[in-house]
Amino acid sequence: MGSNNRNKPCWCGSGIKYKKCHLIREQQAPLTRGDLEAHSKNQKSKKICSVKNLFPEECSGKIINAHTISKSGSLKEISENGHVMGAKPSLDSLIKRNGNLALERVGINKASTFTGFCSVHDKKIFSPLEDEQVTLSYKQLFLLAYRGFCRELFLKENNKGTANLMKESDRGQDRILQAMIQGYADTYDSGVDLALRDLGCIKEQMDSILISEDYTKINHCVFELNAPPKVLVSAMIAPVMDFQGNELQRLGLQDEVYEYIFFNCISYENKGCFVFSWMATNGKYCDKFIDSLLKFDNEQVSDALVRFCYSFSENTWASPSWWASLSEEAKNSIGRRLMHGTPMEVHPQDCLVDDGYRYKAMSISKREIRVSERT
Ligand SMILES: [Zn+2]
Ligand SMILES: [Zn+2]
Repeated sequence: MGSNNRNKPCWCGSGIKYKKCHLIREQQAPLTRGDLEAHSKNQKSKKICSVKNLFPEECSGKIINAHTISKSGSLKEISENGHVMGAKPSLDSLIKRNGNLALERVGINKASTFTGFCSVHDKKIFSPLEDEQVTLSYKQLFLLAYRGFCRELFLKENNKGTANLMKESDRGQDRILQAMIQGYADTYDSGVDLALRDLGCIKEQMDSILISEDYTKINHCVFELNAPPKVLVSAMIAPVMDFQGNELQRLGLQDEVYEYIFFNCISYENKGCFVFSWMATNGKYCDKFIDSLLKFDNEQVSDALVRFCYSFSENTWASPSWWASLSEEAKNSIGRRLMHGTPMEVHPQDCLVDDGYRYKAMSISKREIRVSERT
């Protein structure tokens, strides 16, 4: 490299001069485990109320560990000695298990929480879910989706920090590896940017429903359960394949605005429900996704939902005795699903197709599509 190039912007796209960026990268000390741990601690310390933009003067300023799945209702119903089974996708457990995830016992005070609501708003906004009888009203179904969505947005914003860390992870490596790592980090980073762009739009739409209470803008598919489910969940995904393994959306295309679907499984009054929710305007892929699920009979749906939860959300929590009742093969199959969608493994195209295991996690008594009447 001539001295002229030293003052040009670095090839990696950082915007920093080459001489201050990648010129000396190979000589830099590689990231240590301490660096990674500091990063994950830093992410865990983020605290912000998800509705501060809407009601700034009301916020208590005291950010709490808000449950995305009700502790007093749902989690308590499936817990044993105050514990449920969940995946801890922490660095520690990944290192401990050689990169393989498995379910571990987690206290219900910690299960499904995030530091994304202040004490006032967690109480006030979700009171119709926490303090009133669950009737699966449109308002309650919306609030379920809203709470899970706020957590997803909160976590996605953290991923921006992870992308920045990835860009530093080529320290001490040779030029070829530097180029590979920067390429990988770029792809990840632009994926995060795309998702944040979409999630920002959804937040505006969801906020407007929260304020206007116009629940016709969101559709639901409700499976009612006549016994408490063994597995609870609260999350959101952009569906990329259906339950028969057919491709839906292809992620990573700059010009596309993706469709997202929210899903929640809760337990109440010795029964429960599994609900998918999606914006009425997001009907192209979400409808296909739901149609493919509705081809199954109730027992098949119940198994399909277990496959889906473990392949797509780490915010999935299970009853300890149910987990203990599964065969080793079934447990290993779930363990492999926990790796889907991590930086180590993309989702296999057929990950929702029947894997032959009968999980017996839900007893479905009724299915219902709630689509608003469009005029
Ligand atoms: Zn650089
Ligand atoms: Zn607040």
